Amino acid sequence: MRDASELATLLKQIEGRGYKAYKQISGPWRFSDFTLHVDHVQGDPFADPTRLRLKLPADFVALPDSAYRTRARALGTAAFLARAFARAARGVSGSGTGKSGELRMEDPGQTVLLQTAVLMSEHGDLEARFTVGLPAQGRRTLGRQASGLLTTRVPELVRSALIAAAHDTGEVEAHAATNEDADALRSQLGDQGLVAFVADGSLLPRRSGIDDRPLQSDNVVAFRSPESLRVELELPNAGVVSGMGVPPGVTLIVGGGFNGKSTLLRAIQSGVYNHRPGDGRERVVSRRDAVKVRAEDRRSVSGVDISSFIDGLPFGQDTKRFATENASGSTSQAAAIVEALEAGTRLLLVDEDTSATNFMIRDRRMQQLVPKEGEPITPFVDRVQELYERRGVSCVLVLGGSGDYLDVADTVIRMTDYAPWDVTEEAKAVATRIPTGRATERKQPLSTFSLRHVQPRSVDASKGRRAAYVRVPDDRTLLFGAETIDLGGVEQIASRAQMRAIGQGLVLLAARVLEGRTTEAGIPAAPDVASALDAVEILLKQDGLDVLEPRKVGNLAEFRRFELAAALNRLRTLKVE
Ligand code: ADP
Ligand code: MG
Repeated sequence: MRDASELATLLKQIEGRGYKAYKQISGPWRFSDFTLHVDHVQGDPFADPTRLRLKLPADFVALPDSAYRTRARALGTAAFLARAFARAARGVSGSGTGKSGELRMEDPGQTVLLQTAVLMSEHGDLEARFTVGLPAQGRRTLGRQASGLLTTRVPELVRSALIAAAHDTGEVEAHAATNEDADALRSQLGDQGLVAFVADGSLLPRRSGIDDRPLQSDNVVAFRSPESLRVELELPNAGVVSGMGVPPGVTLIVGGGFNGKSTLLRAIQSGVYNHRPGDGRERVVSRRDAVKVRAEDRRSVSGVDISSFIDGLPFGQDTKRFATENASGSTSQAAAIVEALEAGTRLLLVDEDTSATNFMIRDRRMQQLVPKEGEPITPFVDRVQELYERRGVSCVLVLGGSGDYLDVADTVIRMTDYAPWDVTEEAKAVATRIPTGRATERKQPLSTFSLRHVQPRSVDASKGRRAAYVRVPDDRTLLFGAETIDLGGVEQIASRAQMRAIGQGLVLLAARVLEGRTTEAGIPAAPDVASALDAVEILLKQDGLDVLEPRKVGNLAEFRRFELAAALNRLRTLKVE
């Protein structure tokens, strides 16, 4: 392996040469305490930046064994170090053409997921992955600047972000312990007979609609469970914590406008992931399979059986295999629910703010004016109890506008001035005193939802001469092959890194799950959606995130099968049998 001093000499030698001269730095370099791997050198100053990887041995990193003793601890520590390095790297900039001198690591943000920016082994070794824009003036190298960047700045960043001496011991422990506790909380939900838990003292509101950090204001109301819903759970590090347990069945969150209903639901939907200490939601957890469903008009739908909710469309359109390039509010919400069930959810989350009104409810007067024969929709209010009783699927719904749901609710929580109250008994009394007078519109039991089999050729990752093309140009768009997938309505996507991984997950699905599966007659066999998701999960479990992208990139984060399914279901070329 060549030595770091040779790297410095080489870079200085190529000062002012054509940009391609940088190709010579490709490969591993030995520094005094670690190695630097130059995995890919960019072809020109405007191309995708150069990819670098640091390998730091455990004795140099020198973190205590408690930082990586369990998988959950290692993930918490790795996310903490990645944030620290990403923050420090933002201060590094160069001068020159394009992204000259820019050093970037993917910042994990508020959530703690398995990610590829910083990987921590079970023995305490670290691997850190980041990119640099190799400095240039026009198309000429700035070798001296590059030398300073790689042989001076990078070691400085390592010492200021990636080793034990750079951090307060208590802070590292907090990140490891908090993550371990969050896993422990979530794993207790089943035994406790709960679908979600919100600890007392949690801070739920966010800084803004586009900023996931906690709202900082003197007027933030800390969460305090109603007495009747309070449970105590024991954590490996924090000891006993108390908070609100959300039971299975149908739970309503009611209350006046601007009283914190949606904020509570959003915390619950985000509770499928762990959060960093200080986030305010680090002890808010929900079942891993909780899925937020919403109306999303204009999306495409491919062969979904929405007949339980919508039947008898104009011109006899088939709703047992409903397909459209342009869904309405109600058909998109129905499809989202059936797709979530297909992927295996047992907890649906619904907010009236993002629902189609006619999908949610049809009141007595409307039933009189528009008889059921003229109305294709069986509203959700007539299905939500059945979903729980027949399929074991619970639902948490935010509702301020329709009291018709009181008849079907098991638990009712009222938000008043950001504080939750258990008003279940009151709600039952109101429901008895004031009957809605509506007749149920449920004519048939819930459909059994026949399997959808994915036609292999309908998931095509290629674009032009590239076998696979995946890009994430902004927070809501996934470019996959020649297609653009709008994921703006898939609220539980945690980050762009996760979205990129989902894109690569679709590539994996196309290349390793759909491709090459042929029947005896030589016709490509089409696995059903759930089996296809299972297969991707198995590959990821076996080989880790690098199975998604063999080039060892640092900008991927783990995803759930539900978000992979959401991307697949929004792919406009998708065809099912
Ligand atoms: P609703 O859904 O009931 O209309 P939201 O959840 O949208 O209300 O909350 C309304 C506003 O109040 C938002 O700006 C939100 O950030 C803020 N908010 C929510 N919960 C709290 C809280 N616990 N403390 C302070 N502000 C909050
Ligand atoms: Mg709201």
